[in-house]
Formats: sequence, structure tokens, C-alpha cells
Amino acid sequence: MSPPVDHAVCYLRRHQALYGDQLSLDQPITPDKPLRAHENVDEQAASLAAFEEEIRECRKCTLEAARTKFVFGVGSPEADMVFVGEAPGYEEDRQGEPFVGKAGKLLDRILAAIQLSRREVYICNILKCRPPNNRDPLAAEVSQCLPYLKEQLRIIHPKLVVALGRVAAKTLLGVEESLKNMRQQVYNYEGVELRVTYHTAALLRNPALKAPAWEDFQAIRDRYRELTGQPPIESQGKSQSAGKSTTS
Ligand code: SF4
Repeated sequence: MSPPVDHAVCYLRRHQALYGDQLSLDQPITPDKPLRAHENVDEQAASLAAFEEEIRECRKCTLEAARTKFVFGVGSPEADMVFVGEAPGYEEDRQGEPFVGKAGKLLDRILAAIQLSRREVYICNILKCRPPNNRDPLAAEVSQCLPYLKEQLRIIHPKLVVALGRVAAKTLLGVEESLKNMRQQVYNYEGVELRVTYHTAALLRNPALKAPAWEDFQAIRDRYRELTGQPPIESQGKSQSAGKSTTS
């Protein structure tokens, strides 16, 4: 391919990795956050898009039979922070994007409260296809699908991984602790720092969990800023008003 064509293909692959197959002119082409001055950024985006292409017709487990859409992940291929949930739900299966139902909208509000957006981070799940009636993933499904997440993390190479919910946490860490115990800890997942907090669907089911979850997200925000060389957010007022938006 000639260099301009090569560049266009890289751009389109990156666009596809970020937004799926829909090419919308409403979508701002310039990202909120400037791309890193790193010559491998396009390669990262292209690798992630190529990997998605490679596995999107996966039939390794029985979940493929009922899926409407394969749900790979969304966000920046060069994200410093990756959120990992459990599996697609009804809306995610319909739209082919993780965290787009009510729980996804809550995650968007929490991200906004910690001054991030889903375009700056990366969001995916342990499973790429929806389990029937949103049941917990089976061990066989997890063992077939987990290598895909590992490859996504290898390509993105984040500084921080956040497991959302008990299923994601126990899968990644191989432990049977309660989420309440895990959320206070700092773990290492294959060389990357990992923290655990509640899945946003749990916060919708049990609003009493919103206060501890907001504590977790403030700690996640502070650690993310530290790891990415950004100054800490000092203002208590800002934290409190952000907290209201996630706990109301
Ligand atoms: S859940 Fe994972 S392993 Fe199973 S069919 Fe979907 S992509 Fe393949």
C-alpha cells in the first residue's frame, strides 16, 4: 500500500476500534486528549482492530449460538486505564458495545466525575458474548474467552486495570474473596496494577453501595493521575460535587 492509503487504513482501523462499524460524521474526529507523541500509536490501534477482526466470528464456546453481536471493547487503544466487567448484557449484545445500558450510563457519569470519558480509557468484559439471562459466566466459557482479554491488555499495555465486580475480580485474580475485602487492596495482574470496585449494575441494584464505590473511584482517579504524571485534584469541593452526581 502507498503511504497515504496505509495511513487512511490505519485511521479507519483505529476509528473502527474506537467506534465500531458506524462511521458517523457527528463524531468529532479530533480526540479530546491529544494522541501521545509515540510512533507506535497507530500500530497499537491497528493491532487491536486486526485482533478484533480475527476473533469476531469466534465459536469457541456455546455462547456464540445466541449472541446478536460480539462485544469486543471500546475506548482508546492506547489507554492508560482499562475497566474490565463481566459480560455483555441485553443492550450490549444488541449494540455490540460494552456498558451501554443503564449500568453503562452510570459508568459514564462516574468517569465524568473523575474527569475522564470512555474515549480516554478502555472498557471491555471477561466474556465477549452474552450469557443467557445474564447468568454468571461458566468456568468453561471463561477459560475459552480469557485469552482474548489477555491479548487486548497486551496490546493496550495500560498502567492500571480496574476490575468491575466480583466475577471480573475473581477471574483475573483467581481468588474467592468477597468484593468488600478485595476493594481495599492493590493487586498485580500480569505486571499491571489492578484495583477492584463494584460493578455499576450492583450500584443500581443496591444504592447503599454507591458511597463506598465513590471512595474507590476517587482512589482510582488519584492513582491514575499519579501513574500518568498528572497533578492531584486537591479541591474537596470538587470531589463532593462529583460524588453527588454518582450517588444520587
Ligand atoms: S464468549 Fe468468548 S469464547 Fe465464547 S464464543 Fe464468545 S468470544 Fe468465543
